[in-house]
Amino acid sequence: MVKFPEADARMFKNKFVCRKCKSVMRSTNMKIIAGKVSCRKCQAKVLKPKRKK
Ligand SMILES: [Zn+2]
Repeated sequence: MVKFPEADARMFKNKFVCRKCKSVMRSTNMKIIAGKVSCRKCQAKVLKPKRKK
């Protein structure tokens, strides 16, 4: 499915989706793992990387 690894990286790198409200936010992997990021809409900390559905 991935045709362009570069485009893929640009689109999905450091992007995370809130599990609750599905809003997308940008952050670094480190921050996510450290639990420092919460959704700016619903404050949820359940985020998943924006990859496959
Ligand atoms: Zn949210």
